[in-house]
Amino acid sequence: MPQNKAQEEFCQSIADILVQQILTDGRPFMSGFKGRPGLPKNAVTGKRYNGANIFGLWGSQIEHGWESNEFASYKQLASVGKQVKRGEKGTKIAYFDRLAVEDAKTGDEKLIPFLKVSTVFNLEQTEGYEPVIVPHVPLGERMAQVEQYIANTGAVITQDGNGQAYYKPSTDSIHLPDDGCWLSTDTMSPIEQKYAVTFHELGHWTGHPTRCDRNLKTRFAERAYATEELIAETYSAVACAKFGVTREVDPNHGRYMASWCGPAGLIEVLKHDPKAIMPIASAASAALTYTDMLNEKAEMLEMMRNAVNGQLTLRL
Ligand SMILES: [Zn+2]
Repeated sequence: MPQNKAQEEFCQSIADILVQQILTDGRPFMSGFKGRPGLPKNAVTGKRYNGANIFGLWGSQIEHGWESNEFASYKQLASVGKQVKRGEKGTKIAYFDRLAVEDAKTGDEKLIPFLKVSTVFNLEQTEGYEPVIVPHVPLGERMAQVEQYIANTGAVITQDGNGQAYYKPSTDSIHLPDDGCWLSTDTMSPIEQKYAVTFHELGHWTGHPTRCDRNLKTRFAERAYATEELIAETYSAVACAKFGVTREVDPNHGRYMASWCGPAGLIEVLKHDPKAIMPIASAASAALTYTDMLNEKAEMLEMMRNAVNGQLTLRL
């Protein structure tokens, strides 16, 4: 299949997954995703998938009920002695590759980035797949990791929201309700609800001009608000999956639906221009990479501080 056609089909399939999820649950990746915590990653290199590939691979996981979040190409799996079962259908992923072309004017060789579509298979589609028993990390321990992760970003967060959760661009601050305001449900504890919402607001926080500097007005015009909401929601979904935080539909469900559906909503954009999914997915993925980077920096500083303090207390 020509790459252009493959790209179009890839974008269309991702947009379809997202539109379907929003129409069913009001928000992306709310129910049906019963996999173990963790983002889709490559089964051979261990690298996390990014951008629209997260949506596509999650969509496949949900559709087939796979618990494993590990994928790899036929060739990669064969290289580690794993054979894809006969008749299994793969999932499409897209990534940037570079094509060497000759500059018509200067004759110099230059590298042009282009989107390449290829196919990967879930580990559960291989012969002799044995589920890996993942050690259970207690909720309290996981939530302590989330708390530390959020603190490491340095975002200013105060619990003065009077029952509301919001990001205020003018003061670049996040405002949350008191801890007593979070309610539990059958599947979600109050603390998970708190962090799922905090991640949503942190998603908005990453868009500030001093951080990811998201400019959505040029491409999305009057739908910029709905687009920003979808990016914050997607950021929350991927960050929650990273730590195994359960998400559920919240009371703002109706507000989200209003901004995503209807003639001026984002869903119309995705139906008519499925390629719009690519910048949206990239923005949500870049936001997670950004907060991951802040965490790595904070951890490194902490290590250096401990090393220096250790040296200072040594009597040489
Ligand atoms: Zn929001």
